[in-house]
Amino acid sequence: MAEDDLKKYRGKRDFAKTREPRGRRGSTAGARFVIQHHDASTDHYDFRLEVDGVLKSWSVPKGPSTDPREKRLAVPTEDHPLEYGTFEGVIPEGEYGAGTVLVWDAGTYENTTARHGEPVPMADGLHRGHVTFALHGEKLTGGYALTRFRTGKSESWLLVKARDDGADARRTPVRTQPESVRSGRTLDEVAGDDG
Ligand code: MN
Repeated sequence: MAEDDLKKYRGKRDFAKTREPRGRRGSTAGARFVIQHHDASTDHYDFRLEVDGVLKSWSVPKGPSTDPREKRLAVPTEDHPLEYGTFEGVIPEGEYGAGTVLVWDAGTYENTTARHGEPVPMADGLHRGHVTFALHGEKLTGGYALTRFRTGKSESWLLVKARDDGADARRTPVRTQPESVRSGRTLDEVAGDDG
């Protein structure tokens, strides 16, 4: 997936109809992450990490957990442009991913991936199927790991919280903190404003 670029992203969308950004490969310093709650044909969370100028993306049906014992399925999706990280609104009926999107959490992250004690660049870790990183978000903080457990057509990863100060088995932020960190709106409010 490291070789993926924005062609797949653009091929799925008609930019005359959707207000999602067309995008281009960016080069901002300081790696960003964003998690978008996407109420589409199936409700899910899109987990995105800035790597080499694009947002590497996974669809997480249950959303991220703060409980280190919870393993959350994360299915890779196409790379998205960096500007997508601030997209919030309604994707029209008949368009790819039709439904409502809000920015559920966002911030920066640090790559903590290591192998034999040596730091591993994100792209290499993703190619190998295992990365660790520390999130500095508003709702999520501290370490997480993404680990590939199935390759091929149904490539699948697991998103798991590390045991650190950001871990809390009693929190369920996807349920208790549903609002956008960008606008404070709920999905219904975004749909109402933009629909
Ligand atoms: Mn999505």
